Amino acid sequence: MLRIWLASGKEKSIHNRHPWIYSGAIARREEGIVPGAIVDVYDSSDRWLARGYYNPHSQITIRLLTWDETEPVDRAFWEHRLRRACERREALRCDPATNTYRLVHAESDGLPGLIVDRYADWLVLQSLTLGIEQWKPTLAKLLMEITGCKGVYERSDADVRSHEGLRFANGLLTGGQPPAPVRVVEHGHTFAVDVYHGHKTGFYLDQRESRKVIEQHSADAQVLNVFSYTGGFTVYALAGGARVVTNVDSSSDALRLAETNIVLNELAGTVSSLEGDAFQVLRRLRDDGMRYDVIILDPPKFAFSRAQLISASRGYKDINMLGMQLLRSGGLLATFSCSGLVSEDLFQKIVFGASIDTGREARILQRFAQGSDHPVLLSFPESAYLKGFLLRLE
Ligand code: SAH
Repeated sequence: MLRIWLASGKEKSIHNRHPWIYSGAIARREEGIVPGAIVDVYDSSDRWLARGYYNPHSQITIRLLTWDETEPVDRAFWEHRLRRACERREALRCDPATNTYRLVHAESDGLPGLIVDRYADWLVLQSLTLGIEQWKPTLAKLLMEITGCKGVYERSDADVRSHEGLRFANGLLTGGQPPAPVRVVEHGHTFAVDVYHGHKTGFYLDQRESRKVIEQHSADAQVLNVFSYTGGFTVYALAGGARVVTNVDSSSDALRLAETNIVLNELAGTVSSLEGDAFQVLRRLRDDGMRYDVIILDPPKFAFSRAQLISASRGYKDINMLGMQLLRSGGLLATFSCSGLVSEDLFQKIVFGASIDTGREARILQRFAQGSDHPVLLSFPESAYLKGFLLRLE
């Protein structure tokens, strides 16, 4: 086994089961360790700590896989981890009217760098690290065996791959080609998902539980769904009895697929689409005197690094001020941030700032987070990224 030794004092986070080792923590390594290899990690007193995969091109040089010295990282290891991830999702599936969910949530499932989403009988895999790349064909075959799905399609076109020295990789890994689009059911609602070109692996599965909440608050409402993507919140709002929903998004493809999704669910209510930059569209609606009963603000990630936190905070505040100005008295604002670097506490302060500056008193009725199929491992708090509030405004 190839060995790496940490600098003195750098072992604490490993004792606390944090799965990342940064390059600066490494004191020395054996000769001949190739990128992507499995390595054993020792402290400065030569005590074995953990085992993981290695990539010297990444600042996160080692991602740990096991803290059990007797556990080799072989095919059986990956099979066991995948089976455990599937069992965790089985345990969650109290809703038979849902056949789409996240099956593997990377570090939170003991599988750093690996995302697998299930869309009915199809799996979409995202490999984010070189360590996972080495095992990708094995993982795809195991996933087919374990789940009985018809095919595993790869959507590794995430920017973070560049930190690992990897290019984008999209294509079929094993089994049959998924249809375009794949039809899935979430809480009894049907959605067409474009796994080939859609965002992430095709659909924002992390918002399933928040969408359900919007359904409960939409009776007779006039709803504005900002950053609507393919109409996830819109379908739920209509199912909950919304009279009118307006989708706002900069992507015409997303808006078109949203229209398909509304038709698929045969729902009453009027829907219109506004294509453009949400900041500009909302300003125009505000100036035109439009007002809504329910507004959803689910923007893309604004903060990709600490250096972007200030501009991201400004973006969140601006969009929330616009949302608040467009709400009727007593209206509901469902506001989200999926920037992992923006903590829930910071996000609450930003939204508070927006309420002060618009003179709208607001109360939190409910807090939102990523769905339970995107669990947060306590030893890896970085896996919590989505947060939001349901606010009632005076
Ligand atoms: N709420 C959606 C997911 C939203 S993802 C769901 O439940 O499925 C964010 C969306 O914001 C994407 O569809 C993207 O096209 C859109 N977007 C990104 N920047 C935008 C901007 N400046 N103005 C309007 N839409 C934008």
